Amino acid sequence: MRSALVVPAAGRGDRLGADRPKALVLLAGEPLLVHAVRRAAASGVIDVVVVVAPAAACDEVHALLAPLVPGVVVVPGGAERQDSVRRGLDALPDDVDVVLVHDAARCLTPPAVFADVVAAVRAGSPAVVPVLPVSDTVKRVAGDTVVETVDRSELVAVQTPQGFAAGPLRAAHAAAAPGTAATDDAGLLESLGHPVRVVPGHQHAFKVTRPVDLVLARALLAEGAP
Ligand code: C5P
Repeated sequence: MRSALVVPAAGRGDRLGADRPKALVLLAGEPLLVHAVRRAAASGVIDVVVVVAPAAACDEVHALLAPLVPGVVVVPGGAERQDSVRRGLDALPDDVDVVLVHDAARCLTPPAVFADVVAAVRAGSPAVVPVLPVSDTVKRVAGDTVVETVDRSELVAVQTPQGFAAGPLRAAHAAAAPGTAATDDAGLLESLGHPVRVVPGHQHAFKVTRPVDLVLARALLAEGAP
């Protein structure tokens, strides 16, 4: 029984406006990807790590991560996140029974979240997602007009790492029609009727998407966030 981590890190990061792939943008002197993988490895629950990197950066990414995770495998990504995750799954050994998929961009996710997600999968859930309550009021709009206000008490914001039993995750990716760009992996299992369990997420697991997110990440580290 081995647990694997697949890290999709092949995005361009256009919304961050950086001059390099988002996973390689520096935060406190280290690439976001290094922050993310170090915290995942510190959980102590991951045996195998596969990182999906921009094709032109695979060698650089391998050199960055090999000191942290001996045996790390780096493969080139695809056009959409879903393609990148599928390529990561294809690179996993057959004896892995639990797979975590974690965005490199959620670089400050604490180790305990990885441990909680793996524990929930091992307790019998085929799919597990960490979530936080939604704090904004959320409305559905059509063009510039509000159609309805959605009941916030029923909503959660979903983070990563998302955890899966390996078989159902591989099957869900194989069944997904090419070109259907799911924004997360649990959605693929949901569409096949698998139950998806939620566990508590963490405020530090936010996704670095825009420049303001980097400001927050820097501030958290400066305040001593682990
Ligand atoms: O674009 P977004 O922020 O949703 O990307 C989430 C994660 O998926 C990021 O870590 C990004 O590097 C990764 N990704 C990828 N391959 C793509 C697009 C995004 O690995 N083609």
